Amino acid sequence: MKKIMKKILIDNGHGSNTPGKQSPCGRLREYKYCREIAAEVVGRLVAAGYEAELVVPESADVSLSERCRRVNSVCNRLGAGNVLLVSIHNNAAGCGAWMSARGWEAWTSKGQTRGDLLAEALYESARRRLPAGTKIRTDFTDGDSDKESDFTILKRTACAACLTENMFQDNREDMEYLLSAEGREAIVRLHVEGIIEALRRGV
Ligand SMILES: [Zn+2]
Repeated sequence: MKKIMKKILIDNGHGSNTPGKQSPCGRLREYKYCREIAAEVVGRLVAAGYEAELVVPESADVSLSERCRRVNSVCNRLGAGNVLLVSIHNNAAGCGAWMSARGWEAWTSKGQTRGDLLAEALYESARRRLPAGTKIRTDFTDGDSDKESDFTILKRTACAACLTENMFQDNREDMEYLLSAEGREAIVRLHVEGIIEALRRGV
């Protein structure tokens, strides 16, 4: 009998019609940046022999309820235990001005789930791939690195799910890094390698 290959779903935050969600100078738009990263992550996973696809191939925003419906229909078809979801975002500390907060973090739904194991693998690859000195923002109060929240995309999806906040679009240094060739490559690789490591660990 053919073993079911796990399906990796990559979500990219927001859409071309989402207001705000950009660097104060407008050079980085979160919807666009995350779509470029997500497409590259999916492409590399597929090239490496994994089953990966985008949740939102459209460039316009798709509601969170529709995103969750898409994810859960894959879960219903394959079994939630055979699906992993990573939602790719850029962080922001303010609403339109340059801010000082910097760094990388990941979120899971509340409580200990497979999503926490997925997040841990992503944290490990973020520590490895991002430049030395990058602030890795953690919450160890519950014994692991990730922050926990009731984000809809995490809470209302049946599979292992993790949302990454890939540095701050409203911090000048973070934005310059994100837009650099080196920064893009690091963000892509930390996702690809973290996801493959999570699969290796049985998530
Ligand atoms: Zn976002």
